[in-house]
Amino acid sequence: MPPGQGDQCPFCQLIENPQQLITVGETENFYAWLEVQPRSKGHANVVPKDHKESILEFSPEEYHEAMTLVRETIDKAIDGLGADGASITMNVKEAGGQMLPHAYIQIFPRFEEDENAGTPTGAIFQHREDLQDQDKLKEIQGEMNSVSPNFETEKIEPHPESQRFKEEPEEKQEENVENSEESGEEEEDDGRPERGESIEWM
Ligand SMILES: [Zn+2]
Repeated sequence: MPPGQGDQCPFCQLIENPQQLITVGETENFYAWLEVQPRSKGHANVVPKDHKESILEFSPEEYHEAMTLVRETIDKAIDGLGADGASITMNVKEAGGQMLPHAYIQIFPRFEEDENAGTPTGAIFQHREDLQDQDKLKEIQGEMNSVSPNFETEKIEPHPESQRFKEEPEEKQEENVENSEESGEEEEDDGRPERGESIEWM
């Protein structure tokens, strides 16, 4: 969590006082809680316990954990509330409709008797005839496919130290042995002005 940010983040404040949460599920790193201003019966949010600015900060493992909790929440809505379906929304960043600076996934149970039954959430987007043209679609395809997403690598990188120690234990051990031998000699040679420790303290 970036310093200072968690203090102001409404979701972090909620998570610090979990007795306020009306939970319908929990994993090691996520809550599923009922929205207090629901837009449908059983409207729930799946929210990371750590401050993540958007779902783009989730690791592959966190996606797996979050989506498993989403699936379990849908099961509870269908079997527990008699929901006839569900819509899942992930609003990414402000332009994408994300209303808070803390990632969340919304689960809207859908009911046949509701006025909006059968309406896909994508219906908020009007059809764009100017984008239907085959040449235009090919152009957009080219622009998007010029990008090589590197999700797995990017998300594993935050732990380079632990990875390196696991991969090269022998090399590291040899280096450490040499270093400790050297420093051991230095410690025995009292009065040597080049001693690293002394220099640090000076
Ligand atoms: Zn937060």
